[in-house]
Amino acid sequence: PFLTPIAELGPAHPSIAPLAQVVGADECVPLRAGDSARYANLDYAASAPALTAVAQTVQASLAQYASVHRGAGHLSQVTTRRYEEARETVRAFVRGRVDDAVVFTRGTTDAINLAAHVTCGDVVVLDIEHHANLLPWCAPDRTGSSRVRVVPACATIEDTLAALDAELASAPAALLAVTAASNVTGEVLPIGRLASIAHRHGARILVDAAQLVAHRRVSMVSHGIDYLVFSGHKLYAPFGAGVLIGRADWLDAAPPYLAGGGASASVDFGITGADAAVEWHRGPARHEAGSPNVLGAISIAAACTALADIGFDSIGLHEEALRARLDDGLAAIDGVTALRIFDDSTDRVGIAGFDVAGHAPRAVAEYLSSDAGVGVRDGKFCAHPLLKRLGHPDGAVRASFGLGTGSDDIDRLTDALTRLTTRAR
Ligand code: PLP
Repeated sequence: PFLTPIAELGPAHPSIAPLAQVVGADECVPLRAGDSARYANLDYAASAPALTAVAQTVQASLAQYASVHRGAGHLSQVTTRRYEEARETVRAFVRGRVDDAVVFTRGTTDAINLAAHVTCGDVVVLDIEHHANLLPWCAPDRTGSSRVRVVPACATIEDTLAALDAELASAPAALLAVTAASNVTGEVLPIGRLASIAHRHGARILVDAAQLVAHRRVSMVSHGIDYLVFSGHKLYAPFGAGVLIGRADWLDAAPPYLAGGGASASVDFGITGADAAVEWHRGPARHEAGSPNVLGAISIAAACTALADIGFDSIGLHEEALRARLDDGLAAIDGVTALRIFDDSTDRVGIAGFDVAGHAPRAVAEYLSSDAGVGVRDGKFCAHPLLKRLGHPDGAVRASFGLGTGSDDIDRLTDALTRLTTRAR
């Protein structure tokens, strides 16, 4: 409902300013020609630059900072309160249930490895996933059963849902683990419908929202999401922190993901060590042994607050206008082909994977960098099976944008690609 139809944007696509301030927006880079240019960062899907508001919160937190859960001292108390409040901010941002656990992790990869650690039983995945949502499921679960069942995506989302339905009906599974938005094409999957399919067959659903949470309002309650995972560095917060939010029973039933202080309520080492008796915490602390990444958690919470303040209606309008400009610009260049998984997808976040005929992806990315100061990603995007089935086993190019992007960034990309492809002819 918050998307403006492209027709209403007008044929000329008026210029679009960044929607929010990000750090490093004025960074200048040297060009091959000897001059320099403002860096046009079109690599948000890899890591989005921190929002200035988030950077300010981190800076302020550094000034008043101590280890959490460790002492009665004032700073320890303040930091503990901020760390615990960060869980509540994140929970509210994704409309989690009151009894969901909010566990801070090192990122999405770490969060899915944690989910794999606590899940017992078969897991169904699609072959379009980022490796972070494929490889953790390939090892046997902690009871030693083998577990991953990979369903090839079909040409349409409708057929893909039917294929997942059939797979889940064919044998019991504990979990459907699925991406919310492809990191290669930006196509958004219908999470609510996927959750209904999983639940109909007695499975839970884990949603890899690494590429969604910065772009769309997520409601775990109304979408029926059991576990949601994402990373701070794709949400305009710094590296090194992520989160898993979800149903506490599996988390409390599993042994700690990391053993150590903070996860243990009491330890009696016994006489030999082999007879150690440990009582592990329940709740998030069970899986957060060691001194936690407090600044990471605080920065994720700050990003959630900043995005909520900007509002997803505005974010949707901004990104849709840029998306239309990028799609039209790429479509107008001979030899550029956009990558798509589904024929019937209608919703995409600000990611465009594409191929430039006659040019290796790395050569395209290097040209864009050295001749236009445009930063894109090239390669296989940690999604080798997907790139193979899309017919690009050697990789492709990916441009991605967000709140700090303006229309001139998009135009610099499409102008440079036009120069590259016409020069070669
Ligand atoms: N899932 C998706 C869809 C991603 O795009 C990424 C990162 O690119 C990940 C998982 C892994 O995220 P991280 O590297 O922050 O663990």
